[in-house]
Amino acid sequence: MIAISNITKSFGRHQVLKGIDLSVSTGEVVAILGPSGSGKTTLLRCLNYLERPDNGSIAIGDFAVDCKRAGKKDILRLRRKSAMVFQQYNLFKHKTALENVMEGLLVVQKQPKEEAKARSIALLSKVGLGSKLDAYPSELSGGQQQRVGIARALALNPEVILFDEPTSALDPELVGEVLAVIRSIAKEGITMIIVTHEMGFAQDVASHVVFMDGGVIVEQGKPSELFRAPKEERTKQFLNRIR
Ligand code: ADP
Repeated sequence: MIAISNITKSFGRHQVLKGIDLSVSTGEVVAILGPSGSGKTTLLRCLNYLERPDNGSIAIGDFAVDCKRAGKKDILRLRRKSAMVFQQYNLFKHKTALENVMEGLLVVQKQPKEEAKARSIALLSKVGLGSKLDAYPSELSGGQQQRVGIARALALNPEVILFDEPTSALDPELVGEVLAVIRSIAKEGITMIIVTHEMGFAQDVASHVVFMDGGVIVEQGKPSELFRAPKEERTKQFLNRIR
């Protein structure tokens, strides 16, 4: 369903992604692990074209782009196939929870207002925020704000949801509620790619785990294999450090 081939990306002289190949099947939950600075976030941002890859190709569903040649229309079309959940939530501060979720439906998908509203209310209820529709981000906890971010991503009905360290800005006591929501979405069979430092969560929820270091995928496989019997020395060292 997703095919990433030979993606490279440099910032100035620093090559951050050094040729990434990755395939993801429909309904798979892929966790991307690795030390800070290994290129995980950049890879995710390239998939959503928040960063433009220098080389390689990206296919999501029935649409593929050659990154070197992609024009504006190609980029828009590819971008609409995924939705991103950000580390810092990235909500509009002057819009309520409901308005934040409705925004993409009204602006991007040009849905009629009543339809967008009904869908947004349903999704906010699903993430446990049915009583917070009219709250502004400043009136919500970090965990609640991130759940609005997740409802906003779901609203767009994307083919894949990209989570960029969705719990790393949260106080420890708020991490669980956000992971619970992600876990419940995963059960519905939505394809997801999650950059995370939550190893227990990755082990539980992911169907496939990717370990990155230094801009390359060092090792990947099923969580049961990669966590219990990593093959590569770098993976072993990383797992030992964080355990
Ligand atoms: P990770 O998510 O694994 O921590 P990142 O993808 O955030 O890694 O970053 C990889 C490297 O790319 C880091 O050295 C970071 O400083 C650099 N980098 C990321 N974004 C930019 C940018 N916009 N400009 C310059 N350097 C960047």
